Amino acid sequence: MQARPNKKDFSQWYDYVIYNADLIDIRYGVKGTVVYKPEAMDIIDSLYSLFESKLKERGHKKYLFPLFINYSSFKKEADHIKGFEEEVFMVNRAGGKDLEEPLIIRPTSETAFYPMFSIWIKSYRDLPMKTYQSVAVYRYETKATRPLFRGREFLWIETHNVFPSEEEAKRHVEEDISMMSEQLKDLGIPYLIVKREPFDRFPGADESYAYDAIMPNGEVLQVATTHYLGQNFTKPFEVKYLDQDGSYRIPYSTTLGIGITRILAAIISVHGDDYGLYIPPQLSSVKGIIVPILYGSSGDEVKKYMQHVIENAKPYVFIPDTGEETPGEKFYRSELYGFPLRIEVGRKEVENSTVTVYRRDTRKKVVVNLKDLKVKLDEIIEDMKKNLKNKSESLKDIPEAKNREEVLKLLKQHPIIKMDFCGRAECAMDLKKATEGYEVRGELVEAKEKAGERCAWCGEKALRKVIVAKSF
Ligand SMILES: [Zn+2]
Repeated sequence: MQARPNKKDFSQWYDYVIYNADLIDIRYGVKGTVVYKPEAMDIIDSLYSLFESKLKERGHKKYLFPLFINYSSFKKEADHIKGFEEEVFMVNRAGGKDLEEPLIIRPTSETAFYPMFSIWIKSYRDLPMKTYQSVAVYRYETKATRPLFRGREFLWIETHNVFPSEEEAKRHVEEDISMMSEQLKDLGIPYLIVKREPFDRFPGADESYAYDAIMPNGEVLQVATTHYLGQNFTKPFEVKYLDQDGSYRIPYSTTLGIGITRILAAIISVHGDDYGLYIPPQLSSVKGIIVPILYGSSGDEVKKYMQHVIENAKPYVFIPDTGEETPGEKFYRSELYGFPLRIEVGRKEVENSTVTVYRRDTRKKVVVNLKDLKVKLDEIIEDMKKNLKNKSESLKDIPEAKNREEVLKLLKQHPIIKMDFCGRAECAMDLKKATEGYEVRGELVEAKEKAGERCAWCGEKALRKVIVAKSF
């Protein structure tokens, strides 16, 4: 058996597991894109249904918009186009001829939704309008790409929502924040929710909130964002509604982008270990394999017993692995693939009417009576989910730097620090340069703290306390 790279060598480990655990194939040949294989699609489907069901509970309706956006529509919001112009793929030719008006391949879909909102929204009765779509988006990423972390095509969910008032739109942003924090907690992903600095906002947003997953090395990965858009899109797209008093008003809007591929990258990176992946049980439609351990003539009996095991485990799905490999080889592979559980059945289990259940998260085995199997699996899976939540909350206190020297000193010991900040883009840029890549990520949303007098980096008047970290 091939030796696995140690997780401490993260890059090597990551490339090894995503390829050997059959998640993706990077040999498609178009830069920044990958082929998603069945093991990855199983998790991706689970993530989509998890988040979509939460959105539906909140009254969002699902749409599917075209991949193409008219260029004239795309350039309607000035900041938006400025922010995305360098990143978009544009179709200039079709049918062997230059197009009169180029088509934009969606990098995000505000400029697709809003022309339709202006048609659909007529009166206060049409509001709020809460929508979403689950699609791939395309951005011409020029930084180094890493599969699932950063690519030119990525999978996400984007919500686009219109409200009659500013208050309702802002309340929706708060609901996004509590939904996302609950979901990230359940998935066992440690995270910070920050309000991005004005110079770091989504192009066209009045306020941007980011969900930064904390990776094992302390670097952060933005996995989702919520933006309060004010009237920045409804105005240029002429979305208006007739209010109860008979006057026309311009509504307010929000958007939430949930990066499905990035959440997958975070799950792989946070939960994996030297043995391979660990897929949280709620994301794995197959809970594990059943491995027969055969001695001499016990084979037929064990195989017959496995059918009882499959029946008794229902509704949990276990796949019998009756291939010719040794049990050791099967264990090795099932750990690499990260199945949450594994069931082992040998002569002893048949004689005692038991099964041996192995947990991927603790790597411990427990012997269970066959007739209690379903109940025991319920308990084990509940416990695994509890462990995930604990893992998400494991973040210790974030140390604070009071001045430039302390920033430099603390960053050598802690990957994430906080400091008072002046709010200036130049100051953040200077800090990034001097610290070789540390960024001002924004103000913590859930534990808002009062700022001190002076910016710890430049000494000018401080506006907020911000998080400083390196991003993937
Ligand atoms: Zn400053």
